[in-house]
Amino acid sequence: MIVILNPNIEDNSKEFKETVDYLQQLPNIEIKMHEVLGSEQKLTEIYLLGDTHKLDQEVIEALDAVDRVVRISQEYRILGRHADEKRASGFTYNGVEFSQESCHVFAGLCAVDTPEHVEIMMKALETHGQICTRMGAYKPRTNPYSFQGHGKACLPWVFELAGKYGIKVIAMEITHENHIEEIDNALESTGQPTGVMLQIGTRNTQNFELLKAIGRQRTYPVLFKRGYGVTLNESLNAAEYLASEGTSNVIFCLRGMKSAAGSPHRNMVDFAQVPIIKRLTRMPVCVDPSHSVGSREKSSDEVLDVVHASAQGIVAGANMVLVDFHPEPPTALVDGPQALLMDELPRFLDDMAACRDFYHKRLEIWRRPGN
Ligand code: PEP
Ligand code: MN
Repeated sequence: MIVILNPNIEDNSKEFKETVDYLQQLPNIEIKMHEVLGSEQKLTEIYLLGDTHKLDQEVIEALDAVDRVVRISQEYRILGRHADEKRASGFTYNGVEFSQESCHVFAGLCAVDTPEHVEIMMKALETHGQICTRMGAYKPRTNPYSFQGHGKACLPWVFELAGKYGIKVIAMEITHENHIEEIDNALESTGQPTGVMLQIGTRNTQNFELLKAIGRQRTYPVLFKRGYGVTLNESLNAAEYLASEGTSNVIFCLRGMKSAAGSPHRNMVDFAQVPIIKRLTRMPVCVDPSHSVGSREKSSDEVLDVVHASAQGIVAGANMVLVDFHPEPPTALVDGPQALLMDELPRFLDDMAACRDFYHKRLEIWRRPGN
């Protein structure tokens, strides 16, 4: 059961204290508080866990601080959509709104390599009005002898360059909970020039201890990648681990499934599932066409498969695209063969904007009464 308090309620108000005191004395119920910071208001939600079926919803709804109560089904209790659900989707982070209504492109380097390449990328993003990027510092690699990322050593200069070019959010994968502190320290020492969205890679989808550790921090939102070898339901349950520990600012990312049936793409592109996630949960949905397609092959129409896959995600209502670019792909230390080129950036952005317009046009068509 989720108890939603009146917007912008003060923690030291009488009604807040009385409501929390009442909920705390309920037998066999554990309570967890969660604050959702929107652009216009702060919402406080209290999750009641345990024997909730015996609770009287009307009694709780009558408490002074309570706006409304949502009874939740067993699946994806916090991130899911439930019957009589009116809670909004999404969140604002570092001034940027992420929701099931927004749409952002996160173009950037799969792996941070040189300051020159990072600067070329960030500068191009600023030139084309972009405020988000991807930058991998910690790389989970199949082969232990492959480049593992520059790790914490590159963070200060990556963050400084981001600040210089007005980048507000960097999606950055972490593979160990210690990386959170390394990011905290680098942001602190450079004066918080940018924001970070912690990325959980497909290989760590069911690394539950890592998920719990990331879930316990409140500073950064999370980009959670679908597991490439588990069902959608299993991945959604894994994302719920974050929320169960307190972090519900989560974006769910489709990135293709490992299957011989996807060949010649690196993975089986699963972007037709964007609407399913928007229906089952309140998470904004991201697509990663680079790790799904994994090459620079072109169709007979001369458009890259990566670009076609991105378009398919946006036309299906995706709220974010995570896409690899590189100024000099042959020298990239990770995933050069799938990277888009800098001179493709403006055309890629125009294509995505056109797809987004087309998605809105589709909504208009389907909102028309039938005859
Ligand atoms: C990445 O985005 O750099 C990455 C490694 O992706 P995935 O976890 O989807 O393989
Ligand atoms: Mn990669």
